[in-house]
Amino acid sequence: MKLCGISVRIIPLGAFARFNLGFALGLTLLSLTGCAWTNTSNSTSHSTSNSESANAFKNKINSAERAPLKVLIVDGQNNHYIWPKSTAMMKAFLEESGQFSVDVYRTQYTWRGEKLIEQYPANDDRAHETVTEAKTDPTFAPEFSKYDVVVSNFGWKAAPWPEATKRSFEQYMQNGGGFVSVHAANNAFPQWLEYNKMIGIGGWGGRNQKDGPYIYYNDSGELKRDMSAGQGGGHGYVHPFDVQVRKGSHPIMQGLPETWEHSDDELYNRLRGPAGNLTVLATAFDDKKHNGFGRHEPVLMTVNYHHGRVFHTTLGHGENVYADPMFITVFTNGVAWAAGAKRTEQAQNK
Ligand SMILES: [Zn+2]
Repeated sequence: MKLCGISVRIIPLGAFARFNLGFALGLTLLSLTGCAWTNTSNSTSHSTSNSESANAFKNKINSAERAPLKVLIVDGQNNHYIWPKSTAMMKAFLEESGQFSVDVYRTQYTWRGEKLIEQYPANDDRAHETVTEAKTDPTFAPEFSKYDVVVSNFGWKAAPWPEATKRSFEQYMQNGGGFVSVHAANNAFPQWLEYNKMIGIGGWGGRNQKDGPYIYYNDSGELKRDMSAGQGGGHGYVHPFDVQVRKGSHPIMQGLPETWEHSDDELYNRLRGPAGNLTVLATAFDDKKHNGFGRHEPVLMTVNYHHGRVFHTTLGHGENVYADPMFITVFTNGVAWAAGAKRTEQAQNK
């Protein structure tokens, strides 16, 4: 459908209607009445600059229609108490896109989210036990290789995965797996070097200059890799903010406006890490009037990790975000793109 002079995907409102009908109806109205975003004047300027990769991406989507891409959402320990619900919302909107089949695999020991765990079970045929301090689950061993892409809904203070599981995940990714890091997943596992390489940049957990540069844009539109000393991670007050596209030619960003207004959310700042093979797809200005840091912070990124692909969104603090049509569109694109690596590898090996 056309909105504000650009083509956008029709959002499957049914996915989140199950979670909050009133909010979904409000969003329906919003999408029908026009622009939920701003500054679309240059929205088509990049549409032909990378048509080859766009076609390759479309082919992947088309092949996905024949055989759904297999997604595994892993979760169980996250400081954001909504995590069982946000997992269920991601599963619902991904499946309603028609491109994916989604399984959930949860740690045996779950931390936070107590009431919502019963309401939104993982259905993973595993026993679960709530603990007051996150601790390593020795039984946590997803069969990553069965999936095209793994989505992490872990968060701050999540306990490390067992060593064998970490090695298994590294192998999966190095062989061409897909990974999606959502919001506080980039707070997790600060001591795991290969994980830090996968997410590119992260925050908290003692991350600082030893982990790599700060990544941000300055007011002149230049990407900065800043090795100055200081902590990694921070955010101002929850507020709505504009997302600004920095690489519109990327398949994940095809057909999107140059900027749009994002729902109330935390805007992570001062993330830092190895930042190898990292592409910033979009930023948001972290305004000091919202207790921000005054930089244009990355909010959507990709990382190429060996043969694997990572899509990293810093967005997703509250459940409202998982009902935001633009978040759903970009996230769905990101999951499809990350999943594409494994399918491509398999095709090439035939
Ligand atoms: Zn948060």
